[in-house]
Amino acid sequence: MEEVVDPNKYASWNSLALNLAYICWGLGILVALGYFIRLSLIGDNKDKYDFINKHEIKFLWIASIILILGGCFFFNANVTELTPVWIFVRVFMTVAFGMLVGLVIQNLLNFYYPFFIEKRLKVLRYKPRVSPKTGKAMKLLSEEEEDAYMDEGMIAEENVFSVDYDVWKDEETGYIKIEKYAGHLHALQCPECNYQTFKVVREEVITQPSPSSEGELMKHYQCGYCGYKAKKAVALKFTSKLQESAAAVS
Ligand SMILES: [Zn+2]
Repeated sequence: MEEVVDPNKYASWNSLALNLAYICWGLGILVALGYFIRLSLIGDNKDKYDFINKHEIKFLWIASIILILGGCFFFNANVTELTPVWIFVRVFMTVAFGMLVGLVIQNLLNFYYPFFIEKRLKVLRYKPRVSPKTGKAMKLLSEEEEDAYMDEGMIAEENVFSVDYDVWKDEETGYIKIEKYAGHLHALQCPECNYQTFKVVREEVITQPSPSSEGELMKHYQCGYCGYKAKKAVALKFTSKLQESAAAVS
């Protein structure tokens, strides 16, 4: 006798899968929304910059994974027949589609999304800082001007670690705000493939600076997308702390 297929046989699984799908989608949206709400609560531009640089892609990726997981449940919320062959087909299709969508989103986040982030970071970094003393806009000092306000450790760090310090000055009261930007955490645009994936991977001191002459530092860059490599020599200013900093790098 042939078995009669009862369409309601898997009803409880189907409604469970559908509910799990909704829960995942709700959760994924909450993660993304939570991130942007937290970001909007940060007042300081520099703190905002660091928060975006450090967390944005990571949070969007986590939200995406949860959303995809929801899609996988939704995809399997219409089960009417469950033979070993069907189980195999469903598992295979679910995993294959889930991974495909995940891969596409991961690529978008790693290679296209950084352009969008970069624009916002630039605006945040160069937006005039407001002096807490006068409430007026402060002035961003040039590389030459800023040295007077940085200690030797900072200058050494700027020389060796691909660190950039921005010094903002309130011209009226002399109030100074110093902000640190880490170059090795921040990718540039690749001259070869144009993606925002070009980072300092290694630095070496070619010649040590002395009190009478500048030294030379070689920065090695590599693209995380196309693998393009380049190097750039930069001048090293002499400071007594440079020796320890250079030793810490290698
Ligand atoms: Zn490249």
